[in-house]
Amino acid sequence: MSKKIIRRSWAEPYRMKMVELLRMTTRAQRLKAIRAAGYNTFLLKSQDVYIDLLTDSGTSAMSSEQWAGMMMGDEAYAGSMNYYHLEDAIHKYYGYKYIIPTHQGRGAENILSQILIKKGDIIPGNMYFTTTRLHQELAGGKFVDVIIDEAHDPQSLHPFKGNVDLDKLESVVKTYGAKRIPYVCIATNVNMAGGQPISIANLKDLRAVTSRHGIRIIHDMTRVAENAYFIQQRERGYSNKTIAQIVKEICSLTDGATMSAKKDALVNIGGFLATNEWDVFEEARNLVVVYEGLHTYGGLAGRDMEAMAIGIGESVNDAHQAARVGQVEYLGTKMQEYGVPIVLPIGGHGVFVDAKAFLPHVQQENFPAQVLAAEIYLDSGVRTMERGIVSAGRRPNGKNYNPKLELVRFTIPRRVYTQAHMDVVAESAATVYEKRKKITGLNMVYEPKYLRYFQSRFERL
Ligand SMILES: *Cc1c(COP(=O)(O)O)cnc(C)c1O
Repeated sequence: MSKKIIRRSWAEPYRMKMVELLRMTTRAQRLKAIRAAGYNTFLLKSQDVYIDLLTDSGTSAMSSEQWAGMMMGDEAYAGSMNYYHLEDAIHKYYGYKYIIPTHQGRGAENILSQILIKKGDIIPGNMYFTTTRLHQELAGGKFVDVIIDEAHDPQSLHPFKGNVDLDKLESVVKTYGAKRIPYVCIATNVNMAGGQPISIANLKDLRAVTSRHGIRIIHDMTRVAENAYFIQQRERGYSNKTIAQIVKEICSLTDGATMSAKKDALVNIGGFLATNEWDVFEEARNLVVVYEGLHTYGGLAGRDMEAMAIGIGESVNDAHQAARVGQVEYLGTKMQEYGVPIVLPIGGHGVFVDAKAFLPHVQQENFPAQVLAAEIYLDSGVRTMERGIVSAGRRPNGKNYNPKLELVRFTIPRRVYTQAHMDVVAESAATVYEKRKKITGLNMVYEPKYLRYFQSRFERL
């Protein structure tokens, strides 16, 4: 007789006291809706969606503590008490010296890019992010990808696909000279690579290289706590450290940060810019009043800053991250069991389906990931999004960026859906996978100038 192995499951470290009812639709209703949306899931009405995995941005469920904090909003124009709470939380958990709240991440990116980037500058980074790169380009800079090659390979099992290839970076410095590189932009848990972490060891090596050349590291810290969770699980010497300790160490290896608090920090709106340099802070304090609002509210209500301050503390809780990433892993494992091709290792904020492998008969010019997201919606009312050629957009010279990765992102909002929802999602992906040969591509019939994935429209070929 074999001994039974008892599995010890994680479970959510919270319970529900309020629920939001969802509308169920028929396939005929969904067909009408996706046609009206030009086969772009961003243009669907939320009311027509059953399980919404479009993004993890601003879609998290706030805790009762955060809601209580919302009631403590000090809505003074200047010097709100909530601003000081936010500043305290950032000092305590992240350690950056100076902070400027912004309405969301791109507000911080705009200000930072305008301050640090001159025309002709080069900004190396561990894979691009849409809004980050656009602000770099609008400020006259050029993004250069220095992530390790494994990040562009959906099947590579490298545990830290967010790592920087230091040889690539050295050769960028050699080609352009350190003077033209105002900073290296480092994202934690790289979104576009599928939610993949960077290791502390790599960050330390990067710190050494950049210090030698006198180049800053700016941290896109949108998903720093998820990154810290992976370090805790995978990096030697970190299994006994708390996520809070690891997050602080990551931040200490960088000189400043932009943050979209709509992700890790568990709020529906908000962000900030942080820096350890007084001069940069001075400039930012001047610019924030032009674009966002006074430097003590940056486009946010006092209550939003309070919820953010509390959310930052909750985001570095070990049980929270274990359940958060555990749920993503549950969905990814289920999809793998059905044979659905996904990016490996399974990421921190979502499961990324490899649309190139899913629909090998659809050319990249016919938008395989875009059409796959539409098909998933048609099948079950699950909303996902394209992360491929549409998201990558065009180069400043007008040519398409042709990314190697052509992905559909199933992004999991934090603390929102149950395991049963994840089952429904995996089963839907499997159903569409069975019918994959019948799926044909799309034509783009409307293309906006910037960040086209949000508003472009398509028709069936
Ligand atoms: C969402 C995001 C941003 C931009 O933040 P917003 O709050 O959406 O403006 C920047 N970088 C990364 C990695 C993101 O995921």
